Amino acid sequence: MLRLHDTAIGQVRELSLREPGKVSLYVCGPTVYDVPHIGHGRSYLLYDVLVRFLEWTGLQVDHVRNITDIEDKIINRANETGRDPADIVAEFEKSFYDAMDLLGVKRPTHDPHATDYVDHMLDLIGRLAERDLAYETSDGVYLDTGAVEGYGLLAQQSLDDLQAGERVEVNEEKRSPLDFVLWKKAKPGEPSWASPWGDGRPGWHTECVVMSLDLLGDGFDLHAGGLDLKFPHHENERAQAVGLGYTFARHWMHHAFVDVGGVKMSKSLHNFTSVVDLLERHDARAYRLLVLRSHYRSPMEVTPDTIGDAEKGLDRIDEFARRFPRDGAAPDADAVDRFRAAMEDDLNTPAAVALLFDLVRKANSDRDSAAVAAAYVVLDALGLDVRQGDDEVDEATAALVSARDEARRTRDFAAADRIRDELQALGWVVKDTAEGTQVHR
Ligand SMILES: [Zn+2]
Repeated sequence: MLRLHDTAIGQVRELSLREPGKVSLYVCGPTVYDVPHIGHGRSYLLYDVLVRFLEWTGLQVDHVRNITDIEDKIINRANETGRDPADIVAEFEKSFYDAMDLLGVKRPTHDPHATDYVDHMLDLIGRLAERDLAYETSDGVYLDTGAVEGYGLLAQQSLDDLQAGERVEVNEEKRSPLDFVLWKKAKPGEPSWASPWGDGRPGWHTECVVMSLDLLGDGFDLHAGGLDLKFPHHENERAQAVGLGYTFARHWMHHAFVDVGGVKMSKSLHNFTSVVDLLERHDARAYRLLVLRSHYRSPMEVTPDTIGDAEKGLDRIDEFARRFPRDGAAPDADAVDRFRAAMEDDLNTPAAVALLFDLVRKANSDRDSAAVAAAYVVLDALGLDVRQGDDEVDEATAALVSARDEARRTRDFAAADRIRDELQALGWVVKDTAEGTQVHR
């Protein structure tokens, strides 16, 4: 069974399932107010790999990834641009899915939209208020974090330490700077819903707790997201659930950021790169390979060098696939076991990738059909497609290939280069190998 680092205990432990054979997973989805950046790419590729691996082991995965379609960032963007918030949401939800499709990220089982759950959110806030865990101020309804047992579990800090770390609160009506908004009273012109506390909208932390409990039920197996969500977002989701007597998520998984040349990626540092920008210049499969080459709890370097290396790795895989098409041979069982063991060891994808390249090497050197079949098992489980191309070589091309080999044999490199250019102009990728010129699409 998969062993994963659990943020709640700060250790790797077995992912124990609520129901045998089934995994319930909640991944915090995007707030749709801008195009997805490469950090989103890493995040959702990682969970795509996790889901594919769990399914590969025979488990059924109930994967929920929400769309946050009401939030301050969306309203700010609408105000800045003079557009309707609903237009912003429609545009960027589409660009999110377009980018995910390009990356080969499978759709989740459910993608709930926060605005479809406002009634449920009001119900939850009402129940918190009934238990005296929530209080009203002039601008909203807040959770009283001091009244919730075990607040600070995910931050791995005590309430006192957390409070000491907070900046002086500007909102004097709040009982503690850690208290967070459950319901925001609307300012004029903002999208709003009626509530017992006046027109307003839900706070972000209330959105995810309601959607996860509604779709997955209490005690679901795994709640996941970026390290930046650990505190306060996930802490605050958990506080609301625990305050109402729920167990909530049984296991918490958090992944590290993307670094662009050693700096954490952020818009303010001007190193913001969108997924679409990246994929205009690079193969989407290379980005998946790059994600796989980094352990999920380590920062991932995205630089021209790392992505270039990943592309070279991909070339080797494609070359392997052209040379050794799937042939139905039995995979090397030991290699498949090693793959599973690496993945089950806190999703050690770098080890899984190293094993894949070992298999490719073995196939190339020994023409070992069990290694070939095992490499395909690993490629499929990781969601890495191979490109075998339409390599049907017509007579004219074959003639050019043999003319080039002849030119090389007689050391007429100018002619060899000229023929290579001619082949490339016809759309062929030309490779020099020990056996002579090879071409593929
Ligand atoms: Zn969330």
